[in-house]
Amino acid sequence: MLAALYGPRVDLFGPQADMLPVIHFTLEMFSVVVSLLVVVASCHAFDSHRSPLANTLVLVFTAVAVLDFLHALSYSGMPTFLSPNGMPKAIYFWLSGRIVELLGFVLLLSGLHLRGRSYLWLLLGIAASLLVAMLEPHTLALQSALFLEGLGSTALNARLGLLLCIGYLLTAAWMARVPTTERPLFTTLAKASFILGIGELAFTRWGSPTEASVLLGHVYKVLAYLYVFRSIYLTSLRLPYEEVVASRRRLARREAEYRSLVNNMPIGLMQLDTHLRLCFANPTVEGSLSRPLAALLGKHIGEIVPVDVALKMHPGLLGALQGERVELDYDFVSPVQGQLHRSFIAIPDRDDDQAIRGVLAIVQDTTERTRARQQLDFAMRETNELRAALDAHAIVAMTDHKGAITRVNDKFCQISQYSREELIGSNHRIINSKRHSKAFFKEMWSTIGRGKVWNGEICNRAKDGSLYWVQTTIVPFLGENGRPVQYIAIRADITQRKLAEKEARQLAYHDALTGLGNRRLMMEQLTLAAERAPQMDCLGALAMIDLDHFKEINDTLGHPQGDSLLQQIAGRLREAARPDDIIVRLGGDEFCVLFHNLGATPKESIARATDIGERIHNALAQTYRLGNTEVNVTSSIGITMICSGLDASELIQRADQALYKAKENGRDALQFFDPRLQAEMASRINLLRDLRHAIDDNQLRLHYQPIVDAEMHVTGQEALLRWQHPTMGMVQPAVFIPLVEQVNLILPFGIWVLVTACMQIKAWEDDPVRSQWSVSVNVSARQLHDPDFVASVETVLARTGANPKCLRLELTESMLHTNLKAVIEKMQLLQHRGVRFSLDDFGTGYSSLSYLRQLPVEQLKIDRSFVQNIQNNTNDLATVRMILALAASMGVEVVAEGVENDAQYTQLRKDGCQKFQGYLFGKPTEIQ
Ligand code: C2E
Ligand code: MG
Ligand code: MG
Repeated sequence: MLAALYGPRVDLFGPQADMLPVIHFTLEMFSVVVSLLVVVASCHAFDSHRSPLANTLVLVFTAVAVLDFLHALSYSGMPTFLSPNGMPKAIYFWLSGRIVELLGFVLLLSGLHLRGRSYLWLLLGIAASLLVAMLEPHTLALQSALFLEGLGSTALNARLGLLLCIGYLLTAAWMARVPTTERPLFTTLAKASFILGIGELAFTRWGSPTEASVLLGHVYKVLAYLYVFRSIYLTSLRLPYEEVVASRRRLARREAEYRSLVNNMPIGLMQLDTHLRLCFANPTVEGSLSRPLAALLGKHIGEIVPVDVALKMHPGLLGALQGERVELDYDFVSPVQGQLHRSFIAIPDRDDDQAIRGVLAIVQDTTERTRARQQLDFAMRETNELRAALDAHAIVAMTDHKGAITRVNDKFCQISQYSREELIGSNHRIINSKRHSKAFFKEMWSTIGRGKVWNGEICNRAKDGSLYWVQTTIVPFLGENGRPVQYIAIRADITQRKLAEKEARQLAYHDALTGLGNRRLMMEQLTLAAERAPQMDCLGALAMIDLDHFKEINDTLGHPQGDSLLQQIAGRLREAARPDDIIVRLGGDEFCVLFHNLGATPKESIARATDIGERIHNALAQTYRLGNTEVNVTSSIGITMICSGLDASELIQRADQALYKAKENGRDALQFFDPRLQAEMASRINLLRDLRHAIDDNQLRLHYQPIVDAEMHVTGQEALLRWQHPTMGMVQPAVFIPLVEQVNLILPFGIWVLVTACMQIKAWEDDPVRSQWSVSVNVSARQLHDPDFVASVETVLARTGANPKCLRLELTESMLHTNLKAVIEKMQLLQHRGVRFSLDDFGTGYSSLSYLRQLPVEQLKIDRSFVQNIQNNTNDLATVRMILALAASMGVEVVAEGVENDAQYTQLRKDGCQKFQGYLFGKPTEIQ
């Protein structure tokens, strides 16, 4: 364009100037036609594709088409039939066409929506252009109205051309950037506007209309209108068409999906018209039809399905035709498959206007489902009946794998007296009666834990404490891992049966008169005891008891009194025997007692048997009251120890023989079967009897043994008890102290020793040497644990006036094994009073350092057994050294007991022992 404007001016036509109007008209007609195309396309676009700017386009391009057409017509050289032609007129229409065009673009860009019918805007466009045409004769007036009268027409045109150029370029820039839904329209219009702007430059510098630049301006306009054409082609033809194609494709895909769905669904689908004639059926329906689908299309439903089925569907189909949705189930008998079940749904089939045009029928085969449901119903009913039957007759509980109760029936609540809320969540411990051993439940859990059924009888405790018996079956239910996940316990109340059994047992095993056991019970228990004897550490014994001269009482006082006597005897036997001993009446005046677990050693067992025998003998010898009379009865007792290798009858025989012996020896006596045992028993009985009088008969003596220091100076004395027996001579404590303990005499004996020792302290008070001695007194366990121990020691000290600092109490380690805290408290109380403590026989017990440190002792006495072998037993020497080291570390003094020779003394002294006691320094002797 610049070349055309500023290059040499070329006159294109020259001699053929008459060609110009034709060429000009042709070029102009292009833009007129395109403008009309725009108008037509905008008027007739589909509603859905109608741009909101359509009416603007109609208005603008109608006006442009008319003005351009007038411009073409009024071009010089064109035939004249409206008004005289001439260049100024053509230029006027050209410029007004362009101005209208530019304003139209701005109007489009403003986004203003012109509403209403298109043809009205078309008419408005025509009217507007005609108005402009009518103003043409008044150009000069217009020019002056715009204050442009001074300008020559060429200058005016050039300026207007330039303004238009600038206007087009700005509009082009605006259109290229505008963000709008009308993007395709504006991008092409922007190009058109740009080209129009450039083309407009051609009309700013021209001389003659035949110049190349003028033609070029028109060519630019044609080019611009090609873009306008393109924009209208794109927006009203190409894009809508592409959209149609795309939506058709979408539709086809959607349809294929629906078809595949309908064809493949396992549900039958039929489409029927309003006369219930078949229009469509999916393959599921087709498969169940007797004839090919093609032959059935258009047929009434009654001809398609069996008549009975059609009759069942009919109400549903009619309902759907009335606009309802109907669901119904029906069953029918197929000649091949038997009873079948169907679920049927009829839905009105409506067209786009919602008018009912038929029915959509959906049929589903529910035969399998219905059968499964029926089976389930049946199983549920059966289970419920079984459960009801079980609940009515049994006590039922369910627990989880840990034994927590998850369900109980009413009977369970009734019998246990617990509410369901109390039971659920807790476990069966709530009703444990403690009547069964741990092993019993262990066996039960191990059985059911292995998935096996457990059966057994269990005694339970109800909430009120009463006991009841249940026959129990526990069934475990296994989970996928083979382990029990829950248990069901089914119980039957057998309390009545158990009571009856107990009563029967009572009758079978008990003596009706005395309530004691009978011969059968004795035989069973004795047999058991005899069988167990080889495995038992403890010995048992069997005592046969016979009343002396019972027959005479019976004869003189009568049988009822005799019976009463026997009952009283039963009572005394129960009192004298231990709770676990089995007492039976064999018949008449013959009784029998079976002792279990008498002692850990034969000796101990014999001693215990003797004691209890004596106790029974004494108890029976007490006076009885029979009515108004008082009677004395003596008894003869025969005892045999139960030792292995003897059966029940042999044991009875032995006890019988002993009893016979007792009677033979003048009755009223206790006799052992074995003569050796008999001797032992006799001496024991004598000793016990004599011991009871030892204090009163002034037979106790206190001997003193010196305790010396390393230089063999006496620092104290140990008081040791002796019993001066009238016939046996001096009895050593090892013999009689255990007996004293057994007959509960240790407390008075202990007090006697303490008093005697304290009196001795008091007696030495004024002696300058002896008043410095400590006197050690042995204390027995029973004494120490007596609640009054501290008080009694204090009383003795107070009464005798002895200096507590001279008193030393000897305890042994074994005393400290029970209730250490209380012992320490007692020791501390006495320590406050000045009394000191020694730990006697040290090393023989199981002392642990930890408690030794807590004890307020100042002296350890190494047991004689270590000192004895100190020279030839390295172990003993090591022990002694360890005790010495230990004592040194605790700041405790050590006395070595039982030092008999110089070698022992030297060795001990060398190892650091501070004090010594033993025959080497003096035997226990009486103080003169
Ligand atoms: P123990 O308290 O350990 O007394 C030391 C025992 O060793 C005494 O025996 C004593 O005679 C003996 N003995 C001392 N030196 C020697 C020695 O060099 N060689 C030998 N072989 N023995 C020696 P005894 O007097 O027979 O007392 C025995 C146990 O009886 C005492 O052991 C003590 O536990 C207890 N006992 C003695 N008197 C009483 C007492 O009054 N009350 C209490 N509860 N127990 C006492
Ligand atoms: Mg001692
Ligand atoms: Mg000792």
